[in-house]
Amino acid sequence: MKAIDILHEISGRLAPCGIAGAEREAGLFISEGLDIDPVRLYRDNPDITEEQAIALREMARRRSRREPLQYILGCTDFAGLEISVGPGVLIPRPETELMAEYAVKALSAQGPASGRQRAMVLDLCTGSGCLALALAKAFPDSRVFGVDISETALGYARENARLNGTGNVQFLRGHLFEPLRGSRLFDLIISNPPYIKTSDINGLQPEVRDWEPISALDGGEDGLDFYREIIPSAGRFLRHRGILMLELGAGSAEAVAGMFGREGYGRIQVFKDYAGIKRVIQAEWTR
Ligand code: GLN
Repeated sequence: MKAIDILHEISGRLAPCGIAGAEREAGLFISEGLDIDPVRLYRDNPDITEEQAIALREMARRRSRREPLQYILGCTDFAGLEISVGPGVLIPRPETELMAEYAVKALSAQGPASGRQRAMVLDLCTGSGCLALALAKAFPDSRVFGVDISETALGYARENARLNGTGNVQFLRGHLFEPLRGSRLFDLIISNPPYIKTSDINGLQPEVRDWEPISALDGGEDGLDFYREIIPSAGRFLRHRGILMLELGAGSAEAVAGMFGREGYGRIQVFKDYAGIKRVIQAEWTR
């Protein structure tokens, strides 16, 4: 069987399932899933073995049920890192990649507390570990901690640390600050917490609603539950002028900025994402 024939077969199977980029995705299954160089695929139209055809039809079967492409391929790219993902862990989003860039800038501008060599970083609700790993990679001398409640997510996070050769990161299980015993003081605390309003979950696209972990999405009635916990507690774990940076759900910037203002933070800054949505907020602990 020829590659282009199976490409058409698969995209013909995906298109009626409401998958907009069916042909592009079919191409990705062949290039990424079977590791066939995309240039070769279109230029040489190579032969596909029976085994490869079976594997591709299985990927198409999963995708036709709206399982996310990244779960089927088993990985995604995040800020130049290879991030392994699958059922039970949130797939890193481009907005979060943007937040990683802001975090790198913020920590570069700030550096570790005086008298300390190594910057201390904490990533709450770390999921696949993408933010923790991006920071650990950008600051090889730093010590990074990633916390998540989900053992499944932490399994991916630890695998991702291995995959990317990051030795300066440690993943801990628990609810927010709970697993951090003692009085560690961080230079930067970062989080992409669950922030979707409970009533909005049903309206999400099937890939998200039916497949991604609800515990990584559901931020309670107004989507702000995690901000209400993180913002007042973080001060105990931040050094003077340490930074707290949080990803935001659409429309929540004002409410979250208000929480920062009431809790003793200063220099509050909000950054927009590529769609012009206020997506990231950062503030300094001024006490
Ligand atoms: N950005 C994710 C989405 O749009 C939500 C992730 C989150 O709740 N932090 O589905």
